[in-house]
Amino acid sequence: MSTDRFDSTVTTTCGYCGVGCRLEAHARGGKIASISPALDGPANKGHTCLKGRFAHQFSRHRNRLTTPLIREGGALRIATWEEALGRIVSELTRIKAQHGPDAIAGLASSRATNEDCYAMQRFMRAAIGTHNIDNCSRVCHSPTSFGLRKSLGLSGATGGFDDIEAADAAILLGANATESHPVAGARIKQAALRGMQLVTIDPRRIELSGYAVLHLSPRPGTNAAVMLGLAHVVARDGLVDHEFLAARTEGYDAVRALIADYTPADVERISGVPAADLEAAAHIYGEAGEASILWGLGVTEHKYGSEVVRLICNLALMCGKLGRRGSALLPMRGQNNVQGSSDMGALPDTFTAYQSVQDEEVARRFEERWGVTMRRENGYTIPQMFDAAVAGDLRAMWIFGEDVAQTDPDTTHVIHALQSLEFLVCQEIFETETTKYADVILPASAFLEKEGTFTNAERRIQLVAPAITPPGGAKTDFEIITTVSRAMGHDMGFETPEDAMREVAALTPHWAGVTYERIGRGGLQWPVAADGTDSPILYQDHFELPGGKAQFAALPYKPPGSEASEQFPLVLVTGRRLEHYNAGTMTRRTGNLDLMDHDVLEIHPDDAARLWISDGALVSVRSAFGRIELAARVTDRIEAGHVFTAFHFPEVRTNLLVGGSADINTSCPEYKVVAVDVRPVQEVPARTPAVPTV
Ligand code: SF4
Repeated sequence: MSTDRFDSTVTTTCGYCGVGCRLEAHARGGKIASISPALDGPANKGHTCLKGRFAHQFSRHRNRLTTPLIREGGALRIATWEEALGRIVSELTRIKAQHGPDAIAGLASSRATNEDCYAMQRFMRAAIGTHNIDNCSRVCHSPTSFGLRKSLGLSGATGGFDDIEAADAAILLGANATESHPVAGARIKQAALRGMQLVTIDPRRIELSGYAVLHLSPRPGTNAAVMLGLAHVVARDGLVDHEFLAARTEGYDAVRALIADYTPADVERISGVPAADLEAAAHIYGEAGEASILWGLGVTEHKYGSEVVRLICNLALMCGKLGRRGSALLPMRGQNNVQGSSDMGALPDTFTAYQSVQDEEVARRFEERWGVTMRRENGYTIPQMFDAAVAGDLRAMWIFGEDVAQTDPDTTHVIHALQSLEFLVCQEIFETETTKYADVILPASAFLEKEGTFTNAERRIQLVAPAITPPGGAKTDFEIITTVSRAMGHDMGFETPEDAMREVAALTPHWAGVTYERIGRGGLQWPVAADGTDSPILYQDHFELPGGKAQFAALPYKPPGSEASEQFPLVLVTGRRLEHYNAGTMTRRTGNLDLMDHDVLEIHPDDAARLWISDGALVSVRSAFGRIELAARVTDRIEAGHVFTAFHFPEVRTNLLVGGSADINTSCPEYKVVAVDVRPVQEVPARTPAVPTV
């Protein structure tokens, strides 16, 4: 594209999903004029989706926050930065003095840069003195991180998107890639068209099921049974790589004994997946020369999500399908920097790169650098923060780039927690459901206005460059956090985000060789050795666990936390749509709203007919936790007995329905299985039930 029509063009990284497409952002007159794909982007290879390419108008939307706001007498008023910072410093100092540092907590943002998140966790740990720091990976991929670390050693994909093209077969489990990760979804589609044997496993028939050789529709919450059944067939039919097992793994004997009970017939009874389909899927994966497994939130957002991740690892280990191009485990990370925000230590139990806060040698290294002393105890996770706020133990929170009142489960409890706080700071680009409870709102910057790095779903660290300046009096997150820290008496000494990355490299063995210069246009996939050598493929000759061996996990199937009942006979599954992103804060302020301006409840024709629900009718959806209303869409994309909707529209407030059930190891909410009752809102006149539309 000719750049003559623009004042400037910068190459940056998309701020929507975890694919990490590289973009050319063209500016004119202080605004984004257009965005085109970077032809050399390693993840996108010259492509983008409609979010990355067209959904940029939000950056100059009239509702952007351009000045700090302070609550006085119950109402928000415009304030200067000096007033806002003064209020923050005085309130945090007061609460810390009266109740101790652990009465304060912070939430970093998976939309923000690595450097923003690093600064935020350092602020909480060094300036406040608490490990109460978390990020929204808690409510999406924390089970992935937990499972991968336990089984293989590192919290990241074992390969990259190039494995899709190199694979002879792939299993896509609980991920609607063409809607949630469109460019990666397109790469999967193209690979399937070229002959890669694709198996999709999802309660809904997703678009990619149309390109798959096999689609399995397990009942929500039964992924573990399906994975155990696949392992059973692999073992039974001689598809195990015994040489790999003997040389590189530990713990298979217990797994072999366990999976003997999961015959295809048993698994069919639990999951509804036909035994023959299960056997065929196991053979496709086990017999392929190279095969990968990709998964999304349909795996993780369950009561036993982290255990299913470990069962996925089991299957790959049994078949020896790791450590080679084409044989990878690829979690499809949701938000643009959900990998990086955790990598940067915005977690209550770890510093950068998952170094434990309880490890003496690690903690001393950080203490020396920061000039502070820290406790060797984990802080609160996000759900624990809300519980502590309601209990009166947590008095203040600083939340940036996160709309917890819309995206987190059990909305009623979250709002109660926010209302219980003495002091809440929100750092945002727009007012949100969460800022309604803020005492101070700080106007921050969008990804098109800031400098730093994001880390995509392939562990690839990529540069982010400002194409335009923040509007009005808005500032970058990095400037805000480092300024508040200085005002609180802890000067981080950073002039630029690059300074923060130098510190990350100095304190983090797996990031030792990371520099902006080396990241360049192609990015670096961590671990990065001191000489700059990065790691596109993990575990080629050893696993990052004691003795270099991967660990099997003998974990049986257990039923989900929520199941259909007489009172709540349908199972709600929630997810995302192509046109929108997460809470919709950005995409609802772009032309994408013209493509989709409301959410719908997908319901199978049989259920719709039984309940006298016609396509487009307003329905009420009720769970044990709340009730919402929205329009029905009758479609056979979804199985009978299940309904589906997204959570992009605050007026619907889908998460009112989701309760407190969560992953047993990570507290990731069970968004994917909610028992509900669905009824038409208005009485339907006696007539023949609607003819379903597909
Ligand atoms: Fe952005 Fe994801 Fe779309 Fe790529 S696929 S342009 S990273 S939203």
